Amino acid sequence: MIIPFNKPYMTGKELWYIAQAHHNGWLAGDGSFTKRCNAWLEQRTGARRALLTHSCTAALEMAAILADIQPGDEVIMPSYTFVSTANAFVLRGAVPVFVDIRPDTLNIDETLIEAAITNKTRAIVPVHYAGVACEMDAIMDIAARHKLLVIEDAAQGIMSSYQGRPLGSIGHLAALSFHETKNIISGEGGALLVNDPALAERAEIIREKGTNRSQFFRGQVDKYTWVDIGSSFLPSELIAAFLWAQMEEADAITQRRLDIWQTYHDAFLDLEQRGKVRCPQVPAHCRHNAHMYQLLLPSLEKRTAFIATLKAQGISSVFHYVPLHTSPAGLRHGRAVGDMRHTLELSDRLVRLPLWLGMEDHLEEIIHHVIAAAE
Ligand SMILES: *Cc1c(COP(=O)(O)O)cnc(C)c1O
Repeated sequence: MIIPFNKPYMTGKELWYIAQAHHNGWLAGDGSFTKRCNAWLEQRTGARRALLTHSCTAALEMAAILADIQPGDEVIMPSYTFVSTANAFVLRGAVPVFVDIRPDTLNIDETLIEAAITNKTRAIVPVHYAGVACEMDAIMDIAARHKLLVIEDAAQGIMSSYQGRPLGSIGHLAALSFHETKNIISGEGGALLVNDPALAERAEIIREKGTNRSQFFRGQVDKYTWVDIGSSFLPSELIAAFLWAQMEEADAITQRRLDIWQTYHDAFLDLEQRGKVRCPQVPAHCRHNAHMYQLLLPSLEKRTAFIATLKAQGISSVFHYVPLHTSPAGLRHGRAVGDMRHTLELSDRLVRLPLWLGMEDHLEEIIHHVIAAAE
């Protein structure tokens, strides 16, 4: 038997809520479960408006439309991220401008952003890697001085905070993911958080195929028609029903993940002190959500051997992003500013360990083999 890297956790109520949606006879989007999920997100994050989408990718695409990104515009982001962070803007003709990451959190290095700004720059997209916040005060300050929008890629950031503020509530817009590899899941799923009130109404329209359907249903307009560009970005009620079961348990899920994370962290302290690995670093002003437990090994060769050794013991561990600025599409559509040395070096050395609810019984065994493999 192989201990997988991820296994989706289910609370037990998902099918019951899906049965309720089935009984209600409302299967399209924006029924009662979607409304409950949106309200929960607004209450938990303080966002002005939360809108469920069918993925975080979709929420990022909506954000790019809302930000009015035009061909030739530039958007600053880390290279060490998932493809959707860049793709959403490239689809609108923009150029992703990649900057290096900080060696501690692996988040965008906020001190490098200003040097990457040109007269074509329109937005900054901080990605909260592993659910640990980017330096948002500095980023918001740069954005304000240069009149740029900040779009948080908070795909991994639900239930995390920065200086006490929930991730996704700080930028003008933010995107969350409920993909089955994330903490709170619906298979595929996401949400757009709108913090700038001036963008809230247009967000609803873009999500509803460019129509004013949402206003029509609220009785604010007397006919429903095509008013803007848009697409179908909303999930079915069946997905929202599943997601609602997860949201109800979000505190307990997060706590159990944090317990696993901390058990790893305590167990690897000795390895770290002896210079065999580097453990995750969470700044004191950030509260994380235990989205990930990653180790940095001394070199690519050591990482390759480490993954193979664990695999031989039936434990699956995986590396993460290929830096976007070195990828075929990244080379074609984007450009890097600076030497990107931390991105290049750390992406070769990083490995992620299994972290999922239900793996607690295997934890001791995994830790034992990790310690042996890192020697
Ligand atoms: C998972 C992830 C996404 C994409 O989320 P989907 O819901 O699968 O579209 C985007 N950005 C980051 C940083 C992610 O981790």
